Amino acid sequence: MSGAARYDAAEERWLRGQVRAGEVPVCPRCDVTMTRREIGGGSFGLGYDRHREWLICPRCKRSAIFDLRRGTRT
Ligand SMILES: [Zn+2]
Repeated sequence: MSGAARYDAAEERWLRGQVRAGEVPVCPRCDVTMTRREIGGGSFGLGYDRHREWLICPRCKRSAIFDLRRGTRT
């Protein structure tokens, strides 16, 4: 309805939980496996151990980007 389709906050939170748990995320709206890309790896000049995951649903084209830090396993 309003420009680019986005997930709402609850859906993003759920997706982030999937990623952190090491699961392959599934679009909460379409129930299809999402395309997962890693962004970064130091090319952003952020200096430290940081990377981003970009999830795209191949059906509804919604996407979400998460900042994930490595080594936060506790
Ligand atoms: Zn979808």
